[in-house]
Amino acid sequence: MSWPPIRAELAGIEPYGAPQLDVPVQLNVNENPYGPSEACLDDIASSVREAARTLNRYPDREFVELRAGLAAYLTRDSGDAPITPEMVWAANGSNEVMLQLLQAFGGPGRTAVSFAPTYSMYPEYARDTNTEWVAGTRESDFSLDLEKARALIEEVRPSVVLLPSPNNPTGTALDPASIGALSAAVGDTGILVVDEAYGEFRRAGVPSALESLATHRNLVVTRTMSKAFAGAGLRLGYVAADPAICDAIRVVRLPYHLSAVTQATALAALRHTDELLGNVDALRAERDATVSWLREQGFTVAESDANYALFGMFPDRQAVWQGLLEHGVLIRETGPDGWLRVSIGTPAEMDAFKKALLEVTAR
Ligand SMILES: *Cc1c(COP(=O)(O)O)cnc(C)c1O
Repeated sequence: MSWPPIRAELAGIEPYGAPQLDVPVQLNVNENPYGPSEACLDDIASSVREAARTLNRYPDREFVELRAGLAAYLTRDSGDAPITPEMVWAANGSNEVMLQLLQAFGGPGRTAVSFAPTYSMYPEYARDTNTEWVAGTRESDFSLDLEKARALIEEVRPSVVLLPSPNNPTGTALDPASIGALSAAVGDTGILVVDEAYGEFRRAGVPSALESLATHRNLVVTRTMSKAFAGAGLRLGYVAADPAICDAIRVVRLPYHLSAVTQATALAALRHTDELLGNVDALRAERDATVSWLREQGFTVAESDANYALFGMFPDRQAVWQGLLEHGVLIRETGPDGWLRVSIGTPAEMDAFKKALLEVTAR
């Protein structure tokens, strides 16, 4: 008998996480390279100071003010039907929201489905909630074949379908026209989760899945402040869905899971929305330029609607990753074998990446 007496399926498993190495150019976890302005810092500091006056009390369990703020923000992207506060739920990062969704809608005897290659955390939420995990596959360009996806959903009858758009690590956007068909295939026995962690980076003219919420009650759209919103350290992720779905999540959430400090900080960040999102256009342009440059050098690059690019193919990708690291550039060894993923940083960071890549691959 091995010790400690952890669940058998967890024995010997390493915790998830990209290596956090202190190097000059960090392009490995899709953070926004631009931090908050002094004005935003001042607002956060004074808001947290105010919140601290009542730190002897538990925070607002339902975080009513924050839900209203997030609803107003999401309504920018929801088309004709506004998002109301009852349609919003939040937690410490959208990873926690996703775990709560699996706790409420997955579980023993139930199945979660996604399409690989995709976000490597999804199978972990399934494992942790005793939900069966089934992964379909994507096409060679990493798009989703709608007919195959539908067939798998109809065969497996999952209670949760997880679809990131754009997909991580490939950057591939979900064709918005497919949401209706997938939602219909999932039906009333499941929920269709469109993970828009990188939604704000989508190309102009591409609608958010938020536009389909009013007409598809099994649709759930998740967002985060970690990426475009430049708040990875804040730990605030959220979801928009039918109020009945939010109520179901409330059954499994821990009491007072969102601290008063988190709520105050997130509300202050929302007051600076336009400033915090102010670099999204520049990052999108830098992404497109990076993709073009990589292709000009002869690399294969996946289409990206996100703030990263998946590129290859390398017979020994680990050696390329290591070589870049030795040049002070940290990227991510993830995705199908032969590929590497680089986050989009500042122009100076991208110059360092390009220079190092040319040296490491001797081009
Ligand atoms: C980064 C990311 C998230 C967001 O995680 P947080 O917990 O909000 O920081 C969610 N989904 C995908 C696919 C991601 O890449």
